[in-house]
Amino acid sequence: MTTGPTDSMRAYRMTGWATPPRAVQLAVPTPGPGQVLVRVAGCGLCRSDLAMRQIPRAVGEQLGWAMPYTLGHEAAGWIAALGAGVTGLAEGDAVALTAAASCGTCWHCLRGLDNSCPRGLAGRGYGRDGGLADYVLVGERRSLLKLGQLEPRQAGPLTDAGATAYHAVRRALARVVPGGTAVVLGAGGLGAFAVQFLRVLTGARVVAVDTNPQRLQYAKSVGAHEGLLGVGESTVEELRGVTGGRGADAVLDFVGTDVTIAAGVASVRPGGAFALIGSAGGRLNKAWYGGLPRDGEVYTFQGATVADAQEVIALAAAGLIRNEVEEFPFDRIDDAYARLAAGTLSGRAVVVLDA
Ligand SMILES: [Zn+2]
Ligand SMILES: [Zn+2]
Repeated sequence: MTTGPTDSMRAYRMTGWATPPRAVQLAVPTPGPGQVLVRVAGCGLCRSDLAMRQIPRAVGEQLGWAMPYTLGHEAAGWIAALGAGVTGLAEGDAVALTAAASCGTCWHCLRGLDNSCPRGLAGRGYGRDGGLADYVLVGERRSLLKLGQLEPRQAGPLTDAGATAYHAVRRALARVVPGGTAVVLGAGGLGAFAVQFLRVLTGARVVAVDTNPQRLQYAKSVGAHEGLLGVGESTVEELRGVTGGRGADAVLDFVGTDVTIAAGVASVRPGGAFALIGSAGGRLNKAWYGGLPRDGEVYTFQGATVADAQEVIALAAAGLIRNEVEEFPFDRIDDAYARLAAGTLSGRAVVVLDA
């Protein structure tokens, strides 16, 4: 490693509660025992970063978040330095970092449910230092996923946008049958991944629904059989139309408004599944009888497991999924977030740090 502990690095950082983040210079951290220093190649931007700017102190502290912290929970890069006692990694290895933190030893972690780990409420890029910086320090070996030949500059979104969409699809698989239909509501960053996982893992017809024609076009280019423009009451009728009146095997809602939730639940066939992934704040208020799909499953979750991230990386390494990104230099991060907020990105925004 050519960088010593006195060298400084760029970091894009939250510096106060409910305050906009900004670029600062920080000292490059030095890995202590068991820690790994990663030189970041690229870091994806997520809608949840925008939500973090609004979080008041009381909520942040309840989650165990410490201010200030560097944003960025979709990072990948190369091992720059290993602390004492770290095995199985070498300097220069290309790695992606899992988004969520987990303890690795609690009841949930030991069952592979590490996205439910009670110690995971503060993660890299939310409540502690993340990857929108030249270097990021990683304390847990299991958070580092080897990329092999995959390009680290663009791999970060696989571990969050990709893995979260994968988790949603994986849980619906038992309900999705060949000849059936799976619906993706919201074909943005996560939804476009979900379309691809459904195509790779099932024999179902995949229908994308979005209000933005460009995103529908993209969803079709990565495998959606059909795109429906607009989401509303007519969506239920349209989906009945494309499923022979039966309803969908699974509806994955990556938006999460009252409108998408109501349309989504009403479009599920008896015995099908509805998943709420989108965090737009909508509510499900349906009677058990007549309002919910008969013999159906309604589920929600936050984040993804380490295993989900590993499997998404394996699918990308095998060339079975595409990870469309739009690259931005570090000094255009504000721009990239503005484009994300306005919904005008083509693919996931990735900030390139090694340029
Ligand atoms: Zn995210
Ligand atoms: Zn745990």
